[in-house]
Amino acid sequence: MALKVGVIGTGMIGRDHIRRLTEVVSGAEVVAVSDADEVVAKEVAAGLPSAKVHAAGEDLIADSEVEAVIVCSWGPTHEQYVLAAIAAGKPVFCEKPLATTTDACLRIIDAEVASGQRLVQVGFMRRYDAGLVAMRDAIRAGELGEVRLAHMVHRNPTSTTSTTSANLVTGSMIHELDQLRWMLDDDIATIRVSSPVADGFRDPQLAVIQMRSGVLVTVDVFVNARYGYDVRCELVGTKGATASGPVSPVRTYRKGQEQVPVSPDFVVRFSEAYRKELIDWVLAAEGGGAGGASTWDGHLANLAAAAGVESLSTGDTVEIPTTNTPDLYR
Ligand code: NAP
Repeated sequence: MALKVGVIGTGMIGRDHIRRLTEVVSGAEVVAVSDADEVVAKEVAAGLPSAKVHAAGEDLIADSEVEAVIVCSWGPTHEQYVLAAIAAGKPVFCEKPLATTTDACLRIIDAEVASGQRLVQVGFMRRYDAGLVAMRDAIRAGELGEVRLAHMVHRNPTSTTSTTSANLVTGSMIHELDQLRWMLDDDIATIRVSSPVADGFRDPQLAVIQMRSGVLVTVDVFVNARYGYDVRCELVGTKGATASGPVSPVRTYRKGQEQVPVSPDFVVRFSEAYRKELIDWVLAAEGGGAGGASTWDGHLANLAAAAGVESLSTGDTVEIPTTNTPDLYR
């Protein structure tokens, strides 16, 4: 029997996950959708074999046919839906960010810990990227010796007009903030974010991060880089270095040049990672739980992002508070 999934938020990524669950990933069926714009939700439902439309996300979660929930609505609404899913005892995949404030993250953690089991998976899909997984495995196998430095690049061709300077940290760099913790098995100690643009929309930005182990990291985020979507990571250790770059199976040789295409966007660059992420979630949700990045991971990424936003405005290096990991997330 296929897992019956309800999707809240049928915007860009919600529609992409629905397509993936319907056409690519087996073992799941989208049976209900909900969106602030009911017309859009009805259009999406009309393209599915059998999906009903709920006016409110809470109604979708309460629907007895819905066994598991995907939250792809606007960030500030994530908390209410994740809390409702936990209260209903239903596994929930929540797109990043887990929530938009520290207090909201802590409320979700308290609710999940009280439930006694992991029900929430946060949408940090880089944890499923084959190249990044191979780099993490290389570190764990000791192939790089002690990792000392990491250099990361995160560029988009263009941003929307509503994107703010803070969004570069809370919406884009947050992927690196989670990736670092996951890849290095370490927590972020301090962050300093600055920009060559002093006023107005501060794009690009450069973060200098120190991990608790001492590893030093640079992250360059540029959301109007024009040339394409470009995510890179280089790790430098005492025995070697490893790097991931734009993933393309094709190289073209013409006019005296070797050309490698750059991805147009994250949907293309991380399509395999999104697929593996959803397969993992469906399997975990069928068993009543969650895989991938946890609520705790979502919270720590948010704490680092909040410190990054503070640093961008003050110019100071900001410390991330130490936290005791609840047993559920150890
Ligand atoms: P989007 O295209 O704006 O879609 C969000 C949708 O949610 C819109 O249709 C919006 O309706 C709807 N919505 C807003 N408030 C709602 C509510 N209270 N209940 C139900 N629906 C509501 O945004 P998106 O790019 O898909 O992003 C959605 C989420 O996914 C964000 O949290 C974003 O950070 C995350 N995301 C993650 C990745 C990743 O790589 N992991 C990539 C992209 C996005 P209106 O338009 O009418 O407001």
